Formats: sequence, structure tokens, C-alpha cells
Amino acid sequence: MKPLSATELLNAWERGLNQPILERALILVTAASPELDAETAANLSIGERDARLLQLREWMFGTRLLNTARCPQCGEKVEWEGSTTDLRIQSIGDIEPAEEFTLDTDGYRLRFHLPGSRDVAAAVSAASQQGNDTAEALLEQCIVSIEQEGKKRKFSELPSRTLDALSRHIEQLDPQAGIRTTLVCPECARQWEVLFDIATFLWAEINSWAERTIRAIHRLATAYGWTESEILNLSPLRRQLYLGMVDR
Ligand SMILES: [Zn+2]
Repeated sequence: MKPLSATELLNAWERGLNQPILERALILVTAASPELDAETAANLSIGERDARLLQLREWMFGTRLLNTARCPQCGEKVEWEGSTTDLRIQSIGDIEPAEEFTLDTDGYRLRFHLPGSRDVAAAVSAASQQGNDTAEALLEQCIVSIEQEGKKRKFSELPSRTLDALSRHIEQLDPQAGIRTTLVCPECARQWEVLFDIATFLWAEINSWAERTIRAIHRLATAYGWTESEILNLSPLRRQLYLGMVDR
């Protein structure tokens, strides 16, 4: 993995503009992980993907993050501060792409891989076409084989408690896929857990960064006649200093 230059980040942003969030996250991970081909990146578990997105966020915008949530009891907007270091609970490279695991539960032996971006996309589309439950479609997507006393079984034969056990096991193996943080409402003292989605959060930051950067390019190109790449190659500090003089 590596940090992205301003040009690379702007290119990734442009490629992701008209894409769903799943694709945007994959574009960012692939750009920052040149050691992975597109196929491998799409098969990274969601926890592994999010560990990489947290690392990229740290390199591009620092460790401190500010976010808001609505209190489920009184509707108050609650601001919360976190750090990428505290939120990162999985190390990069912990799980191999498409690595297979086994779970023995209720007399079943399940072989499965952890959900990756491709599985999520396939599950969302299967659920919307057939009206199935997305979480269940995702489990089906991840199952490699099912055996009971040496006999092959179908996914549809699994009882719901076995599916629940598999789902809990996947969460333990890939904890970064669901980053939770506990908040307390300053108005009504209600405590609740929020799920922090690094993909959506980071994309929103990149989006406002890109809009600011494009405006800066326009102003500096107009004032000095520099090209886009010359302006992007300036350090953020020097770009800011020149902008300050243009605006004076
Ligand atoms: Zn409240």
C-alpha cells in the first residue's frame, strides 16, 4: 500500500463520481494498493478493505475524524470525535483474498470465504431480483461447500440457527467490517451504538477535497498560467500560500 499523490487522488475521485459506493471504495483501495490486481482487490474481505481505507484516510487527511449522528430518542444531532488508530482493529494483510475457512456447527461442516466487495454486489443484486433477504443472499454467496455426516447439502437446507452461527463467526473473523462506537446523547443521556462506515465517510471527504482542489487549480492557472499538473505537484502548503496571494 502507498499514499496517493494529489493527481492520483483526483483521478480516483473522477473515476468514482458516477459509481455506487461499493465501486468507489474499490477504486480507492486499488489506487492505493498497486500490488493488488483488480480481481484480487474485489475479493478482499470487507474488513480487509476497510482496514486499507482507514490507512489511506490516515495518510491523506490524518488520524482525527469528526462525525455526527442523530440521537434515536430525542433527535438531537450529536457530534463525535474518533481516531483512525482506535477504529483500526484489523491489520492489513491479516486475511488473504478469497481465503477459505471451516465452521463445524449443528452437525454441519461449512466451508466458506469472507464476504468481499464482489459478494456484496452479487448479494444486493440477487436480493433485489428475487426479493430475498440481502444478509442471507450474502451468506449463500460466501459458502463454498456444505456437508452433514459426509453428505453434501444445499444452502436452502440449512436451518436459520446455523446461518446465525455462520454470520456471527464471519463477524469475529473479519471484525473491521462493522466498526461500532458507543455514543451518549448530551440532551437526554441515551446511550446507543452507531456503525461507522469508513467508505462513505472517506468518499465524502475526498469529494469536498476534490471540489476545493479544482477551484484552486482554476484560480492559480488563471493567475499564473501554470498547468494543472504543475499546480497539483505543488505541496499543499505552497498551493495555499500562492492562493493567499491571488486572493489578496
Ligand atoms: Zn437524545
